Amino acid sequence: MELKECVKRREPELLACLQENLRIPSVQGAPEEGKPYGSEVRRSLDHVLTAAEALGFSTVNMDGQVGWCEYGTGEEMVAVLGHLDVVPAGDGWSFDPWGGEIRENRIFGRGTMDDKGPSIAALYALAALRDSGLPIRRRIRVLWGCNEESGSQDMKYYLAHGGEIPVMGFTPDGEYPVINGEKGIINVTYGREMDRVGDLQLISLHGGTAPNVVPSSACAKLACSKELAQRLAALQAPKLRFTATQYGLFVESEGVSAHGSTPELGENAIGRLLLALDTLPLEGQTRETIHFLAETLGMETDGTSAGISLCDEVSGKLTLNWGTLNIENGKLQMKINYRYPVTKAYDDCAPLLDAKFAAAGFTKAAELHKAKLYVPEDSELVRTLMKVYREQTGLEGKPKSIGGGTYAKSLPNIVAFGPIFPGDEIREHKPDEFLELSRLMENAQIIAAAMYEMAK
Ligand SMILES: [Zn+2]
Repeated sequence: MELKECVKRREPELLACLQENLRIPSVQGAPEEGKPYGSEVRRSLDHVLTAAEALGFSTVNMDGQVGWCEYGTGEEMVAVLGHLDVVPAGDGWSFDPWGGEIRENRIFGRGTMDDKGPSIAALYALAALRDSGLPIRRRIRVLWGCNEESGSQDMKYYLAHGGEIPVMGFTPDGEYPVINGEKGIINVTYGREMDRVGDLQLISLHGGTAPNVVPSSACAKLACSKELAQRLAALQAPKLRFTATQYGLFVESEGVSAHGSTPELGENAIGRLLLALDTLPLEGQTRETIHFLAETLGMETDGTSAGISLCDEVSGKLTLNWGTLNIENGKLQMKINYRYPVTKAYDDCAPLLDAKFAAAGFTKAAELHKAKLYVPEDSELVRTLMKVYREQTGLEGKPKSIGGGTYAKSLPNIVAFGPIFPGDEIREHKPDEFLELSRLMENAQIIAAAMYEMAK
């Protein structure tokens, strides 16, 4: 029987298994023995592995961190990596988020698209491939991780405990056609202390909520005489407000929020506030610090004045988002989120930025680096997946690079492939998450064909 037909015949079982799993609210919970992400996540993993065993596959459960099943023999292994943990339901549902209801050819529930739908489809795609009897020379492993939504500690555990690295594979936890580039992401925290001298003194400053969000508001309190406050309160500038208060002056700035991977779509309220403060008669280290930050970062989003503007043809410019700034009692702390192009490296930017801030009296308090991912367009993996995508959908399309990070970064030799089709609404992490049954089966078909092409 043809592979396509074999996949189709597995549809009722796939749907039943998915529905059952959607009824397990596998949101991260308190860790217990053998249940590092809580009992519901573990229950979801056990459920899928039991289904895999019932299908006759050998399975492994690696300490409740990640589990997998395998088909085939052969020295080399190719992988499909999905995850069973989900984000909380949140408000605004018109269906039971844990009901797995099917209505008008749609299946509803938290995880239908991200990532239970596609990752359970992979199990039945594997069964269909076996049914078809098509010969393969590499083993195929379907992995179900348990911690994608809150840090991907699962795959760190897998790698640290000798988990086999596939020669190639994909995660159906992104979008079609293929995401073959993901920028490197650096979250850095700088701090410094400043003296407070002069007639105008900065009491406190607060802006932003998280490093990966463009801040939409920021404000500063300054101490000064009544006369000076009256004079400065007369200042006017777009999206800035100066108010004379009991203690002196209050300055507020407004911005436009955007995701930290696309800061150019927003307006940075912290940057706007600092550019304004830089024009005021501050003194001493406060003046130096404010001037340095206004000049080095300001409202820029590509790191030019910071000395780290990088660019490549595949993924475009380095992006920089100044996410938070807090000053209290002469102590400053700030967080920057920046993302370097996929053909560049950490060493092309991070040491330069650190040196610039160190020279201005800042210390680096913390740093988190998620290395870039780049699998060239002419690699066997990307060529194979693009071929499958074109054959299965009749659509053209090119592999793409993104500024965000997907689960693909958690395991070497993996790229994101599906499950969202170009033009489809992105419903993951939102209320009424659903997947059309036709899309579910299209994914199953594509996954089966891709497994075969990678393993044959
Ligand atoms: Zn996901």
